[in-house]
Amino acid sequence: MTTELLTDVTVEEICNGFQYSELEGKGLFGWGGKLVIQPEYQRNYIYADGKRDVAVIDSLLKGYPIGLLYFVKTADGRYEVLDGQQRITSVGRFLTEKFAFPGADGFERNFSSLPADQRAKLLGTRLTIYVCEGGESEIKEWFKTINIAGIPLNAQELLNAIYSGPFVTAAKEEFSNSMKPMLQKWKAYVRGNEKRQEILAEALRWVGRGDIDGYMAKHRFDEGIGELKAYFSTVIDWAATVFKGVEDEMCGLEWGRLYETYHANAYDPEAVWERVRTLYADEFVKSRKGIFEYVLGGEKDTRLLDVRVFEPKEAKAVYARQMADAEKKGVSNCPLCAVGHDANAKRIWKFSEMDADHVAAWSKGGATDISNCQMLCRTHNRAKGNR
Ligand SMILES: [Zn+2]
Repeated sequence: MTTELLTDVTVEEICNGFQYSELEGKGLFGWGGKLVIQPEYQRNYIYADGKRDVAVIDSLLKGYPIGLLYFVKTADGRYEVLDGQQRITSVGRFLTEKFAFPGADGFERNFSSLPADQRAKLLGTRLTIYVCEGGESEIKEWFKTINIAGIPLNAQELLNAIYSGPFVTAAKEEFSNSMKPMLQKWKAYVRGNEKRQEILAEALRWVGRGDIDGYMAKHRFDEGIGELKAYFSTVIDWAATVFKGVEDEMCGLEWGRLYETYHANAYDPEAVWERVRTLYADEFVKSRKGIFEYVLGGEKDTRLLDVRVFEPKEAKAVYARQMADAEKKGVSNCPLCAVGHDANAKRIWKFSEMDADHVAAWSKGGATDISNCQMLCRTHNRAKGNR
């Protein structure tokens, strides 16, 4: 990768041919057409608030630096603004009379009504620009290294930058568009802010089986997003069909993985939802978000539910009760050892050698209270658990 520091390019040059799109809310081109100010991956222009845009002009008129600008040189010899698009757009909009600057005398002035010396000062200001040229992986590293002013790009925004092209453009149109009527439905299942590309990230994670980066690299130059779109709606439709209701805990589950694992099974949506309701009402279920996979998997893996276990003081009380009983009868304090015929039939286990067990399994309706607790030796507890 090569980097070059430019220190003699002026505001006038950078803003030559400046174009701003009111419709898209972004600066488009500058530097005589060879600078792309807001490439696809950049956020829209957010400085038009009469404060931040004015502050940029104020700095320039006072001769203060407006900070480093970072450009990436593209393969066709043009430049894309990596960092600085808000500042460049502010200056460009001022020069093209899109907003006015409040002077010390209280009167607002647009560019053409500034005194000639101030206009000249503004136009003649030299900018400090770092230009980077290199391969994709180098640019990627560079992205991570420079401290982008304002809100840093998140992981998906970064990937959109690295793999910018027709695929990203179409994907953003579908998944980061706040006007999409489907968005509300999607958000019952997918957590995140569409404007920060978080819905897109999830859609890519599902279709890429977890490998977002790999999927984007492979499809970078695709003209359409057919597979991405179809896979995403298939997963959402499947979730919405199997689970006929919506609960808060359904938002943010790994629906892509659940779809891959369970979609070949047949489910009765009425029965499924009945089980979900019942488990929601069960006071021993500590992890409600595990309910959905538990039900999909045929209610076998109780670990998903983080069912309440016995407290140490409950276990100790049961241990004491079994000890007293064992001494009276002269048998093992593990009830399953006691009914056996091997050397352990009379063995007294220490508290630390035993585990608390549900007499009636929780999954069969047994409660996590002391009346349903027994202490078993490790071997018997494990054997019971595996049944
Ligand atoms: Zn035992």
